[in-house]
Amino acid sequence: MSGATAITYDDVVAWINTFAATVRDQKEYLTGLDSAIGDADHGINMDRGFQAVIGKLPGLPNRDIGAAFKSVGMTLVSTVGGASGPLYGTFFLQLGTATVGREAIGLDDLVTALDAGVAGIQRIGKAELGDKTMLDTLLPARDALREAAASGVPLQDALDRLVSAAEQGMLATIPLVARKGRASYLGERSAGHQDPGATSSYFLLKAAADTFAGAEAG
Ligand code: ADP
Ligand code: MG
Repeated sequence: MSGATAITYDDVVAWINTFAATVRDQKEYLTGLDSAIGDADHGINMDRGFQAVIGKLPGLPNRDIGAAFKSVGMTLVSTVGGASGPLYGTFFLQLGTATVGREAIGLDDLVTALDAGVAGIQRIGKAELGDKTMLDTLLPARDALREAAASGVPLQDALDRLVSAAEQGMLATIPLVARKGRASYLGERSAGHQDPGATSSYFLLKAAADTFAGAEAG
């Protein structure tokens, strides 16, 4: 693989640590979003999970990106209750399967991994674009990254497009009526609120872009 777009094991660990710090900072905000259309625990769930995750990463025996992602996924599944634990857990487990044995990955690998992760969420949660879930952030972001990679743009530009599509997708959840998860119990009353999971997914991808932006080796 060319070193031109190498995302290393250290970059991946830095991504997870950055996201854990964001979740900690945004814990009240995420929980506030969930109090409007759910049960006011999304920030608490995510923070509990990612504090457990960052406690485990330093103890991993080797520099295998796939093993790190699998550790993240298993920790989320075992520590986070609610819908988001199994969904994000599956996302990271699938990222792990896609990158097993790798110490560095390129943009194409990132596309493949993100594709697998998003497919895992859809397999478990059965949600589609427009259902007012995290997939409203993740699906357009995945498509933007895939198209950027196919058109051969540098990693930095691809990551910019990823974040911009993720942000638009997150904001697009505001007028939607929820069709999956707890928010769907509210029916029409779920409209007018930004989805908490779509928001945490935006933070997740923003953290990836911020972390990987410096990853491009000369
Ligand atoms: P819970 O809803 O069990 O309290 P959280 O509050 O942690 O769990 O997470 C809620 C978020 O999970 C929602 O904002 C939504 O984005 C996401 N979600 C719920 N159900 C699904 C689903 N079937 N597919 C994808 N995402 C979902
Ligand atoms: Mg909740």
